[in-house]
Amino acid sequence: MLVISSPSGAGKTTLARRLAGEFDLRFSVSYTTRQPRKDEVHGKDYHFVSRARFAEMVEGHEFAEWAVVHGNQYGTSIATVNTSLADGVDCLFDIDYQGGRQIRQQWPAQSVLCFILPPSMKELARRLRQRATDANDVIERRLAMAHEELTHYGEYDYLVVNDNLDQAYAKLRAIYVAAGCTRVRNDGLAQALLREAAAADHKP
Ligand code: ADP
Ligand code: 5GP
Repeated sequence: MLVISSPSGAGKTTLARRLAGEFDLRFSVSYTTRQPRKDEVHGKDYHFVSRARFAEMVEGHEFAEWAVVHGNQYGTSIATVNTSLADGVDCLFDIDYQGGRQIRQQWPAQSVLCFILPPSMKELARRLRQRATDANDVIERRLAMAHEELTHYGEYDYLVVNDNLDQAYAKLRAIYVAAGCTRVRNDGLAQALLREAAAADHKP
């Protein structure tokens, strides 16, 4: 379970989409009460739902985690998590630090948490403005929140500075590939090899 978080505008969605495009890993499509931006597709970028529907889902324990971010509600479907775990497929989460913390608490051994940093606060502001997907007051609110979000970097396993996009992507890619090679994630195969070797052993 690869969790990617960052202050809004640092580039986590760009990096996460690229990783999901290169590898066979499932992108967890969150539920949100936020209004869709132009070009956002229901079911692909988010499941856009009403506040009433979101409240129903909270009541029905349908979320693995959920949080209020920038005044809107966002949540990860527990079905997505469980299906990925059952299928043995890696899953990518573009969620905030509150969500990352909840995922880490529930799946400490399975989760890898990566925080994307902008090269500077000035560049963060420039990216948010040039993205031109949000109204000015929304951009200002997101910039004000960036400070609070940055204070949570210590809860993450990895920090990747997104200055040059290709270099940042190479680092994120390396983290993902290395995470797949840890001993705990390959213990089953090592144990199977040991059993096979033991079965083939010739008794003196
Ligand atoms: P987030 O998901 O963190 O809010 P986005 O992925 O939407 O951020 O990126 C914010 C804006 O910055 C987008 O317009 C994106 O194309 C741009 N961007 C992302 N990474 C870089 C980079 N390394 N250099 C310049 N612009 C970038
Ligand atoms: P945006 O509105 O820019 O798409 O996302 C705003 C913030 O909400 C980002 O930090 C994003 O990572 C976070 N977010 C998106 N989906 C979820 C989710 O399901 N849970 C949580 N906790 N945060 C989310």
